[in-house]
Amino acid sequence: MMEYPLLLRSILDRANELFPQKEVVSRDYTGIHRYTYADYYRRVCRLANVLRELGVKKGDRVASLAWNNHRHLELYLAVPCYGAVLHTLNLRLFSEQLAYVINHAEDSVIFVDEDLLPLLDGIKEKLGGVRHFVVMTDRRELPATSLSPVHAYEELIASASDNFDFSRDLDEYTPAAMCYTTATTGDPKGVIYTHRGLYLHSMCLGMADSLALSEEDTLLPIVPMFHVNAWGTPFACTWFGSKQVLPGSRPDIKVICDLIVEEKVSLAAGVPTVWMGLLALHRKARYDFSSVRGFVCGGSAAPKSLIQAFDKEVGAPILHAYGMTETTPLVFASKPKSYMKDWPEDKIYDQIAKQGLLVPGLEMKVVDEEGRDVAWDGKQMGELLLRGPWIAKEYYKDPERSMSAFAGGWLHTSDIVTVDEEGFVNIADRSKDLIKSGGEWISSVDLENIIMSHPDVQEAAVIAIPDEKWMERPAACVVLQEDRRGQVEYEDITNFLQGKVAKWWLPDKIIVVDEIPKTSVGKFDKKMLRQRYAGG
Ligand code: ADP
Repeated sequence: MMEYPLLLRSILDRANELFPQKEVVSRDYTGIHRYTYADYYRRVCRLANVLRELGVKKGDRVASLAWNNHRHLELYLAVPCYGAVLHTLNLRLFSEQLAYVINHAEDSVIFVDEDLLPLLDGIKEKLGGVRHFVVMTDRRELPATSLSPVHAYEELIASASDNFDFSRDLDEYTPAAMCYTTATTGDPKGVIYTHRGLYLHSMCLGMADSLALSEEDTLLPIVPMFHVNAWGTPFACTWFGSKQVLPGSRPDIKVICDLIVEEKVSLAAGVPTVWMGLLALHRKARYDFSSVRGFVCGGSAAPKSLIQAFDKEVGAPILHAYGMTETTPLVFASKPKSYMKDWPEDKIYDQIAKQGLLVPGLEMKVVDEEGRDVAWDGKQMGELLLRGPWIAKEYYKDPERSMSAFAGGWLHTSDIVTVDEEGFVNIADRSKDLIKSGGEWISSVDLENIIMSHPDVQEAAVIAIPDEKWMERPAACVVLQEDRRGQVEYEDITNFLQGKVAKWWLPDKIIVVDEIPKTSVGKFDKKMLRQRYAGG
């Protein structure tokens, strides 16, 4: 066979050559922006010329602080195909963390959406290493800013040439992109994605038993483009010629529902809290979601009750998947095997509520505290270890934390899981969220998923609270359905749990709250809940 490097320019060329008339739709500040992959390609070439004019060298880190929009998508391919590394900044980081990741990555240029400029203005003194700021706006004039030197994206693009000869001789292990994962303790940890890793991961998104993403799809990523590259979907969609619908700045759930209907979206991707919000709105407003073939749900466990409600009320399935920043991210996809279709309905739902089967290409191990493989019986818990061509090999410039997380050539995920006889993996918990009661483990994820199947409950997050006798006991923070507020007692929830979980799993406390705090990527923020209700 030929020696043929796996490079992202293959994605760019294919979109331009085979799908020049397919559309990218983007919700901009002034309305809906539409263009084709032919237009996209031209602007990506112009952007590569702009990078050269700004003095960007191969290997330099170029950052984006942006929503899901067409300019961000242009950076997605222009920067890596030029030979630089796209660092997608999490726009919800606290300012000290934002300054930390920009300096740790040594970003040379930052491309920033106009409404996010204040985030950089606020930390300008700390950004001595950044050579240029480029503001992405639909307006003619630049908004007021203290940053310098500052340029307008559209002006730079307008004066650049349409032609750019993207290099063919990059090594496939060349870094293409990077993200930081929010660490619970200490500073955020950087993960580098290579051309090869992103190329193979994109192929995996197209496999029939993962997302089966194809040219026929219209994909709406609600997952931010700074959260593990919107789960890799922008690369795969561009390669396959799928129509992309990018929801822009601060999309609320109504904007998302309208875009799904108007643009006939077939696949949308987001974390469970997004889908809980969509379900609540759909129950009031009744949208026509007939174009949708699946709602991809990952980042946290999809509760069984949510999966059932989507089938029965929304009319399109939840496609449950698991991954992490260190894994590009796709690792498990939950789809029943063909013979499982004959199982009783409830058992099928139990199966899909698990995180699913390992996708082709990766290897896993599940080990106990002594490093021994656990039995595949759906009961024994162990830590999940992973390796493969799209699993990170280390944290960027962080030898100490890399040593423990990547010991022995495996990524140690800190996720505690079981594996059943069919090979389906179930995430019991992140190790820090497990509740250790009297020497036994209680899975907060299992408990909250059952609580969320209570008809009066909209959201539930379970945390450990300290206990003199048992060391830790579970407490459930619960948001009630709007019409049931003030009418639900502790016993209503615990009676409902009787018979569904072991008696000693019953929460000691039900804390009714108006809202569960969310992390920067929309997951239940258990760290915050622990600070509020468990003293640490
Ligand atoms: P953060 O650490 O900021 O949440 P990541 O997206 O990298 O960012 O988090 C990855 C973690 O999210 C995994 O290690 C796992 O604990 C959790 N996770 C991801 N997908 C699922 C899922 N489908 N079910 C349960 N947990 C999930």
